[in-house]
Amino acid sequence: MTFTSLGLSEPLARAVADLGYGAPTPVQREAIPAVLRGRDVWACARTGSGKTAAFVLPLLHALSAHPGRAPRQVRALVLVPTRELAAQISEAIGRYGRYLPRPLKTCLAVGGVSINPQMMALRGGADLVVATPGRALDLVKQNALRLSSVETLVLDEADRLLSLGFSEELTRLLELLPARRQNLLFSATFPQAVQTLAAQLLHEPTRVSV
Ligand code: AMP
Repeated sequence: MTFTSLGLSEPLARAVADLGYGAPTPVQREAIPAVLRGRDVWACARTGSGKTAAFVLPLLHALSAHPGRAPRQVRALVLVPTRELAAQISEAIGRYGRYLPRPLKTCLAVGGVSINPQMMALRGGADLVVATPGRALDLVKQNALRLSSVETLVLDEADRLLSLGFSEELTRLLELLPARRQNLLFSATFPQAVQTLAAQLLHEPTRVSV
C-alpha cells in the first residue's frame, strides 16, 4: 500500500517520502480514500496514529486539484482545541504541501496571541484556516474571516474541544458555515457529548476506527 495508491497526487507522495514515511498508517489507509471521495468521516484516532496526515493530505489534494469558486476564499476550516495543536497542523500543511504546483495559503486563527497580525494575514485571503473556536468567532465578528465558502470542516480532537468548553462557540460557527459541506471529525474518545455532536454534524459518515 502506497500513498499514491490511496489516490494522492505525486507532489504529495513525494513530500511524505522526503519525510521518511514508508507506508500509510492504518488511519491514513482508511480515511484518505474516503475524504478524497468527498465523504463525511468519523475517525477514532489518537495522537501518534498519523491522524494529521489522514486529513491534511486529502485536503491538500482536493484543494489543489479543484480550483475554488474565487481565489483565496477560505475553503477548509480546521478547528482544534489548542494553539499548540493548530501550530503543529499548520507546519504539517507546509511540509506536505511543499511540492504542490500552486502554493496554498494557510492562516492560523488562535487565541492567546494578538489578533491584529491574524487579521492582516487573512486580509490577503487564505485557502485553509486552522483555528481555535473562540478566535475564529472573534475574527468573524471583526469581518476578517468569512466562512461562507468553506467546503470542508475538520474537527480535530473533538473530545478535547468539548471537554475544554468550546461547545457554544462550535454551535455558533456551525451556523455560519454553508449547509452543504464535507465534515471530518477526529477524536481519541467518544463520550456521549462527542456522539451527539457527530450525529448533528455528520451525514452518512465513513467510520474509521483503528
Ligand atoms: P499524528 O498522529 O498526526 O500526531 O502523527 C504522529 C507522527 O507520526 C508525526 O510525527 C508524523 O510525522 C508521523 N507520521 C505520520 N504518518 C506517518 C507515516 N505514514 N509513516 C511514518 N510516520 C508518520
